[in-house]
Amino acid sequence: MDTSNPATWLISAGRTREPGAPLNVAPEFASNFYLPADRLYSRVDGTTTSNALEDVVGGLEGGRALSFASGMAAVSAVLHRLPAGSQVAVPDDPYHGVAGLIDEGEAQGRWTVSRLDQANTQLWLDALQTCDLVWLESPANPLITVADLPTICGAPRKAGCLVAVDSTFATPLNQKPLDYGADVVMHSATKFIGGHSDLLAGVLITRDDDLYDEFHHRRLLYGASIGGMEAFLTLRGARTMALRVERAQENAMVLAERLEEHPDIATVRYPGLPSHQTHDIAKSFMTGFGAMMSFDTTGDGARASAFCEAARLIHHATSLGGIESTMERRAVIDGQQGMPPTLIRLSVGCENVDDIWHDLNQALLATR
Ligand SMILES: *Cc1c(COP(=O)(O)O)cnc(C)c1O
Repeated sequence: MDTSNPATWLISAGRTREPGAPLNVAPEFASNFYLPADRLYSRVDGTTTSNALEDVVGGLEGGRALSFASGMAAVSAVLHRLPAGSQVAVPDDPYHGVAGLIDEGEAQGRWTVSRLDQANTQLWLDALQTCDLVWLESPANPLITVADLPTICGAPRKAGCLVAVDSTFATPLNQKPLDYGADVVMHSATKFIGGHSDLLAGVLITRDDDLYDEFHHRRLLYGASIGGMEAFLTLRGARTMALRVERAQENAMVLAERLEEHPDIATVRYPGLPSHQTHDIAKSFMTGFGAMMSFDTTGDGARASAFCEAARLIHHATSLGGIESTMERRAVIDGQQGMPPTLIRLSVGCENVDDIWHDLNQALLATR
């Protein structure tokens, strides 16, 4: 079985392959197990279903994976291992849940924070010399800024400095933070890994056994383990991730180019476009530009809202990474009030690209 290809791995890994066994590891609904056993209690030990999911995602990123009840549960396990008085570097526009945790810990005096522009690599190289945690999110939400991960993750750093990458927008298919030297990769598996907008899940992947144990310990203390049904659905979704991501990012490139030419669009932010601020960085190491973009409609915020409402195929909804296209105006989301008022984030799905284009165009024309 050659599983070096990610698509093949996604489809073939995490199965029992025993005569008489079902092809798919079934959803295991269990809190406790008959003793004596290695697996006692699922908050502590997970389930066969969550283990299968971890095998698949871990193999893809090249490390050991731990599943969580949500992306934020995974983020918390990384942040809350920091001792009081730590110094943390985060992007100046991180995912709003991450921003919320960082702000709260700062207000409580748990850590001091540097908020850095991800397009400015030198700032991050400097932060590696002083910080205990360097948290990157690339591509970032919602300006789709790409950090120079190979340079930053591979650079010399202070002893004990942990480098973590929220790789949700890239998916495990477009970049390999652990290969570049990061200590931990985080995914909101709610998004592209699950891929169907029907679950919440998170995952951390690391090559360091001590870190793995620490995260495992946090997970059991916080009660942040994934449920049997969620683990099953996430794995079920992951089987088709390569197909979905390939199609969605192909669509995204076409749509970004067409939007850039549209008279009712002021700005398009997609790392695949040569006009994007971090296009050269993205091109230097990413194997695909992903399915996330943002753009500004001409006119005011009210027009941008009307545009979202006028869509008939694209779903006016938050979140991202589903097989269906979704979009929303970010400035109306809690914690995102600093965004440009006309910024719309589009998560490109797997529908026919001309149908998506037609919908964008009709919604623009209808709100002129
Ligand atoms: C959604 C998201 C998260 C949080 O994940 P949940 O599964 O919603 O808890 C973190 N980072 C990014 C980039 C996200 O898109």
